[in-house]
Amino acid sequence: MQKMNQKISATLCIIFAMLAALLAAAGCIDTERGDQGEEILVAVTLPPQEEMVREIGGDRVNVFVLVPPGSDPHTYEPRPAIVEQAARADIYLTVGTGLFPVEDVLASRLKTMNPDLDVVDSSRGISYLVEPDEPDDDDHAAPGSLVNHAETSGHSHGGPDPHVWLSLRNAAVMAGNIRDALIRADPGYAEVYHANHDRYTARIRDLDQNITAAFSRDNPGIILVTHPAWGYFARDYGFTVVSIGQEGKEPTAKDLESLILLAREHGIRVVFAEAQESTRGAETIAREIGGTVMVIDPLSPDYLVNMEKVAAAFAGA
Ligand SMILES: [Zn+2]
Repeated sequence: MQKMNQKISATLCIIFAMLAALLAAAGCIDTERGDQGEEILVAVTLPPQEEMVREIGGDRVNVFVLVPPGSDPHTYEPRPAIVEQAARADIYLTVGTGLFPVEDVLASRLKTMNPDLDVVDSSRGISYLVEPDEPDDDDHAAPGSLVNHAETSGHSHGGPDPHVWLSLRNAAVMAGNIRDALIRADPGYAEVYHANHDRYTARIRDLDQNITAAFSRDNPGIILVTHPAWGYFARDYGFTVVSIGQEGKEPTAKDLESLILLAREHGIRVVFAEAQESTRGAETIAREIGGTVMVIDPLSPDYLVNMEKVAAAFAGA
């Protein structure tokens, strides 16, 4: 009798183990969201947002980037398959509503496909740098006219500068918005999101303090870039950034000429170009001033590491 019982319980054990394995496998395949412990699917526009969501969401989130590395977010149009995948998300975190045209289009399409989708403006609460309104074919100011160039970060539409994530202080605001969105979607894990957020923003603050200290020792004064993406960064650390190109436009011969004069006048030796854009203008200027071209990346998925790297490159220039 006892032997029989043992045999039955052994069989039951095996059945239970098989059931458990089946359930686990089903859990892995199951992509339905819910509040029973499934992952929260978060769609983001740009790679740097991915790190923020991963750090704050931890194991609870699955992040999906809409604009892949190497693409230009100003002109990118996502393929239908990408839109379909994004429509399964619980949350869509935009960089900032209205800043990138693709985000408005996507947000409304995704919302139609999935009315439950929470569309969150991750830069809510950030004070935008606003670019002066300029005619499209503006006659650039006289050579060396620093103020004109410096105040023109390149978008000719006169709207807010969309490159909000390239400021650690803005990133701290974005982190708060991400935490709040995750808590809304998954309130049972609020404590985890709070703790992760606090840890991540402490790292942001530390790095911000280190960069502040570095720039108070070696302020580069003026940095020459090809893409007008670093206005917030320059504001944070008190230097001036001058952009060779306007958004999506090659500099004219006249632009180059005035920038060469400016660079000579201020002893600029490095021209910062970006992997996503043409480096031709940068190379022309570098050749003329006997300087070098250095490539930086505003869209690196290793956000904090990259910000540290760029800061070191600027400070060393
Ligand atoms: Zn841009």
